[in-house]
Amino acid sequence: MKEIILIKMGEIVLKGLNRRQFEDRLLKNLRGALKPLGEFTIKSAQSTISVIPQDDFIDLDDVCEKVRKVFGIVTYSRAAVCPEKTLESVLETAPEYLADELRRAKTFKVEARRSDKKFPFKSPEIARETGGKILSCFPHLKVDVHNPELVVTVEIREYAAYIRGKALRGAGGIPIGTGGNAAILISGGLDSPVAAWMMAKRGVRLTAIHFASPPYTSERAEQKVVKLLHKVAQYSGNMTMYTVPFTEIQETIRKKCPEELFTIIMRRLMMKISERIARDKNCSALITGESLGQVASQTIAAIACTDAAANMPVFRPLIGMDKQEIVDISYMIDTYDTSIEPYEDCCTVFTPRHPRTKPTLRIVEAAEEKGEFDEMIETALQNLKVTYIDPRED
Ligand code: ATP
Ligand code: MG
Repeated sequence: MKEIILIKMGEIVLKGLNRRQFEDRLLKNLRGALKPLGEFTIKSAQSTISVIPQDDFIDLDDVCEKVRKVFGIVTYSRAAVCPEKTLESVLETAPEYLADELRRAKTFKVEARRSDKKFPFKSPEIARETGGKILSCFPHLKVDVHNPELVVTVEIREYAAYIRGKALRGAGGIPIGTGGNAAILISGGLDSPVAAWMMAKRGVRLTAIHFASPPYTSERAEQKVVKLLHKVAQYSGNMTMYTVPFTEIQETIRKKCPEELFTIIMRRLMMKISERIARDKNCSALITGESLGQVASQTIAAIACTDAAANMPVFRPLIGMDKQEIVDISYMIDTYDTSIEPYEDCCTVFTPRHPRTKPTLRIVEAAEEKGEFDEMIETALQNLKVTYIDPRED
């Protein structure tokens, strides 16, 4: 039996005049995601996208696994193509295609959608006939129109008639590339990969920035970040990662600045450097994984000091989330196991014993002046290491 995938678009159908642009982007992203699996025909009509495999070797489970990670999709389902676009063909295909589900279920209902108005039967008739046929094949079943275990959907569309069972939940959000470009400050921790994923979900194309302080931080710590970005890239598409050599700056902070302000000054310098990279790489915002109150550098006063170092919007999508909520997402996007691997991050290398939780900008700026960081920032910017993250290499 020939199977295809039917996809329902999300919020993008609400976007009025931009709708065309959003839809085109979604189709482009889908084509890109599915390309490694073989040839497909992908087309959109009446807010449904059909993905039709053209090669026999294509495994629909693999296709679903890719589709599940494309932002802009609310639900998707596998569907059987009826051999003919006739009611008889629908009645034959439905009980056969969904036999396993129908055998397991106790209650069901049939919904019919007829977007091809030339089809000689109306939706209620199609539903009634199909329901009757299913009942005759599976006499244990009962029809429940309010709360059925299984909804069988018949879709009569322009090119063919389709039968589909359960719709699965898609990644939601809006298509990558419709939300502009932003740079994610990524550590090897739990939070920043989740923050990256959350902004990608809002259509943002990502560039990654990582600060490394060898020999205090190891090559393996950096590889861990690459691995995390690979996971995020399954959703966000390919991206470039810039690794900033941060050792000299961190050593200078330690030498010249008050210990209680180490973290906040480090964070400000990260912002300054990141802003420069972001502007250079056509990004118009920064993203961090900060969550209010999680650690000393994430109080309102500390965030105010960090914010003042950057002259572009800083997005903190986790700001109001609890750790457990962040962990739940990291499981879902499969970054958890990598994030908890125990390699040193540059933040943990020079952690002050008693960080100041209520710094004032005046004091922090005065302390930062003493470090005379300007030249070091330029040197760091001239020595960025570039790594390309391709989601297809796994
Ligand atoms: P994470 O789990 O993302 O490491 P965290 O809870 O450990 O976050 P901090 O270490 O205070 O929090 O870092 C706050 C944010 O600063 C991170 O979410 C990240 O965006 C950024 N950041 C921290 N360390 C680095 C680094 N080495 N390179 C790039 N960005 C970093
Ligand atoms: Mg961290």
